[in-house]
Amino acid sequence: MLGSMARKLRMFGFDTLYYNGLDDSTLLDKCVRDCRILITSDEELFQHASRLGVRSILVKGNGVDDMAHVLRLLGIRSIAFDISNARCSLCNSMIRHVISKDSLTLTGLPDEVLERYENFYRCDGCGKVYWEGSHIKRILEFEKGVNNRLAEVE
Ligand SMILES: [Zn+2]
Repeated sequence: MLGSMARKLRMFGFDTLYYNGLDDSTLLDKCVRDCRILITSDEELFQHASRLGVRSILVKGNGVDDMAHVLRLLGIRSIAFDISNARCSLCNSMIRHVISKDSLTLTGLPDEVLERYENFYRCDGCGKVYWEGSHIKRILEFEKGVNNRLAEVE
């Protein structure tokens, strides 16, 4: 249910794993083993994690308020999107700047995209290509909303 939250956290550079349908004990084992913080919308799982001493955060959804809630609990006062620090929204791997546009011709990007944009980035893991288009604009709008919330006095 929190797939969109996971994708956004990755885009802001947070090392984020996402599991849907994994049984609770396997999930909690992973959190303990890898020292990860559990973010969940499942209250029962949240309670279970708390009882085991797994650091966990309960959120309702994927919106600006939810993200601000998570970041506050993590002690983060603001976020700033930086593509050189971003992780792939699909697979959590690092994204690297692509130096030559030539190497992109194999990926099947539309010519208009190649002509319009100068900077392209490719995921080290799955090969997904990113550029500074509408997706990044939405990320920046989201960032602004989250930072406004974080700046509000609680
Ligand atoms: Zn990827």
